[in-house]
Amino acid sequence: MGAPEAIIIGSGFSGSAAAAALAERGCAVTVIERGPWRRTDFVKSLGIEDAAPFPRGGRMTTGFLRSLGGVSFNKSGRVLFNRNGLFDVFLGDGLDVIGSASVGGNSHVYGGISMRPVDRAYWDNAGEGLSAAAMEADYEAVERLLKPRRVGPEALGAAALAKRFPSASKLMTGADETALSLAISNAPLGEALTGRGGLFGCVDGSKRTVDETFLGPYLRSGKVRVLALHEVEAITREDSGYALHVRDLKRGKNVVLKSGRVVLAAGAFNTVSLLLKSRERGLRLTEALGSHFGGNGDTAGIWRQKDDTDLTAATPTLQRVRLKSAPDLDIVEGAAPFPGFMPAPGFVTKGLSRTSLIAGMGKDKMNGEVSIADGRIRLSYNPDESPIIRELEAAFDEIARETGTKIEKPKRLFTVHPTGGAGIGRVVDGGGAVYGCPGLYVADASAFPKPLGSAPSLTIATWARHVARGMELSNLYRSNK
Ligand SMILES: Cc1cc2nc3c(=O)[nH]c(=O)nc-3n(C[C@H](O)[C@H](O)[C@H](O)COP(=O)(O)OP(=O)(O)OC[C@H]3O[C@@H](n4cnc5c(N)ncnc54)[C@H](O)[C@@H]3O)c2cc1C
Repeated sequence: MGAPEAIIIGSGFSGSAAAAALAERGCAVTVIERGPWRRTDFVKSLGIEDAAPFPRGGRMTTGFLRSLGGVSFNKSGRVLFNRNGLFDVFLGDGLDVIGSASVGGNSHVYGGISMRPVDRAYWDNAGEGLSAAAMEADYEAVERLLKPRRVGPEALGAAALAKRFPSASKLMTGADETALSLAISNAPLGEALTGRGGLFGCVDGSKRTVDETFLGPYLRSGKVRVLALHEVEAITREDSGYALHVRDLKRGKNVVLKSGRVVLAAGAFNTVSLLLKSRERGLRLTEALGSHFGGNGDTAGIWRQKDDTDLTAATPTLQRVRLKSAPDLDIVEGAAPFPGFMPAPGFVTKGLSRTSLIAGMGKDKMNGEVSIADGRIRLSYNPDESPIIRELEAAFDEIARETGTKIEKPKRLFTVHPTGGAGIGRVVDGGGAVYGCPGLYVADASAFPKPLGSAPSLTIATWARHVARGMELSNLYRSNK
């Protein structure tokens, strides 16, 4: 009998962590990823020639957006602009969702913050077999691979809050408040994330991306293979397991892949959407699917400075910004190295180097709902039911007043941290197994039963590892390619 095989949908933090944990157990894994390989030093070292560049310079206009979705779009509810584009945007009612597509998922574009839940008891009573203690070994294993590095104010140079706003007495700028764990290499901080790495992709490995850290050894040994530019459109049940209906985006062909073990790791919003589409095609899933969906309290603003400090000369994720009046609110300032990536006149570059993104996170009510009608995915979310969002907006106003600067809030609320919709106890059990569908698992944040309220990638990878380590690998079905 051959080695058991599993198919994983998605290659971000969850898919790569699950693939690595399964490969570690001797399982041959196929990862299906709708985005392309990215042209990085690591991918070149694998001998993969067919890799897409990141959107930089002139490519910013064509390579930035991959797809735009929402109910008012065409029959399918989504327009694919460029299969090699980086970002996917879904416009919902009350909340938009932003993600990206590449082998390595969002690890290419994320801010590098790697942290455990602020609520240390997050996993306690979260589901059968789950507790903070039960997850400890998985957190440690993921941290060993991501190697997050703690940074303090010394790394921030002129961009440090205390230097920029010495008279802002309501801001907390102590060492503990500015220290962040970033998943970056050991290169000097300034170079690590503003050079060839950063929010728009990391070419040189200065930011640790999961295609390299989690999958690298298994890609080299052949234990894991990745089908890039392949998008799973639906999953149906077969006698021998599951059939995945896949669009080969490069060749413009439909293919069907089969396996007895399938792990959904497409990012919370995509996983819920895929399960809803699959339910329409007969997959038996509970009514609770799509409910209890949240945006991690994500609230953002554009922060315009008045002085000449070049914020892009530090790390893209700069520092925590805390208010003495609301020390529990988790607010981060990040400056993307835009100037180096875009051809723009000097005054635009200068303006951008003085502009940063201020973002807050917190526990929202997870009162959103993802649903499907006429084949189109819908998302509805009422931010007014989540006090955290108004609290964060009020904190932004206070920070702007205190520092004599401007923070502009976007008209639409968006999240880069979608959570829930296929929650533990509702759609899956404490091991990520989908109720009523043996061999089908959910390894991403759609399974999170409650809001996390802090940067989630480390916890998502940890959950995925937990799911993969607990998966039934006996001959549940005869796997077949
Ligand atoms: C700009 C930005 C900055 C961020 N910064 C931070 C940060 O600093 N710290 C932090 O903790 N988190 C951050 N996040 C969030 C973090 O990136 C996500 O929480 C994390 O990537 C989720 O991991 P995942 O594996 O579930 O999904 P992803 O990383 O999104 O990976 C899912 C993959 O699945 C693929 N996929 C989707 N649907 C299909 C399909 N049908 N078929 C095949 N493939 C599919 C996608 O293309 C994607 O590559 C940030 C996110 C963004 C967008």
